[in-house]
Amino acid sequence: MASAPDGNGYWLVSAAGQVHAYGSAKHHGDSPDSYRGTIVDLAATPDGSGYWITSSSGQIFSYGSARHHGGAARSGSDPVTGITSTPTGEGYWQVVADHQVSPNGDARFFGTLLLDEAYDRKYPSFTGTVGAWGGHTNGRIPSSLLCRVERGDHRLRCDAATALLALDAAFREEFNETLRVTDTYRSYDGQVRTRGRWCQQRMCYKAAIPGTSNHGWGLAIDIGSGVNSFGTPQHEWMRQNAGQFGWIHPLWAQQGGSNPEPWHWEFTGTG
Ligand SMILES: [Zn+2]
Repeated sequence: MASAPDGNGYWLVSAAGQVHAYGSAKHHGDSPDSYRGTIVDLAATPDGSGYWITSSSGQIFSYGSARHHGGAARSGSDPVTGITSTPTGEGYWQVVADHQVSPNGDARFFGTLLLDEAYDRKYPSFTGTVGAWGGHTNGRIPSSLLCRVERGDHRLRCDAATALLALDAAFREEFNETLRVTDTYRSYDGQVRTRGRWCQQRMCYKAAIPGTSNHGWGLAIDIGSGVNSFGTPQHEWMRQNAGQFGWIHPLWAQQGGSNPEPWHWEFTGTG
């Protein structure tokens, strides 16, 4: 729901994406007929000359003068539940899973309420869109089934390793620098160690519960080369281009996600 600028009207949007304008609020369009997702909220530009509607999977549709600034990438099962415009109308925040925030356009991230234990209860599996394969358990994949990533002693599932090489080639073309990989496959024991280190600092939530990390499937990488900070040209380039090579930045790791980690990317396949 959104108020008309003069307070004499408002917009409501149905789950099917039908926008209803009341009072002084003006109708600028509904979600495309072909759209089968669930629309959850609408936000209007400050002058009321346009609006955005968002689906539960994070997709944004823009109408009137409202400009599209992207939406929370779909990852895992956390649904988007709301959207609010910035005062300029050049961006918006999406609410994810009722308590996370995904900033878009000129919207900035200021924090969310999320306690460490509550996080562990809500996201015990730390899920992205990748998972089990090959009949092995997390962190116990024989190294013969993994492919060496050329730099250092890093291994990934072979299709992910291949896709990383292609991604690296494109990255080098752009930045004249190799995409530095700091972590790849992590054994179960390695996950226990990582978790222990964070728990000692009372920040257990910063590492997945052992046996649940996507690093344990050989499908996650941590990278440096500037990608490891939000807002850098390298990070922005990854956001724009990594998807072509099957690599995504899971929602929880994005700026405004439940555990922001600009360096953590996951392989979902290129098919
Ligand atoms: Zn990671």
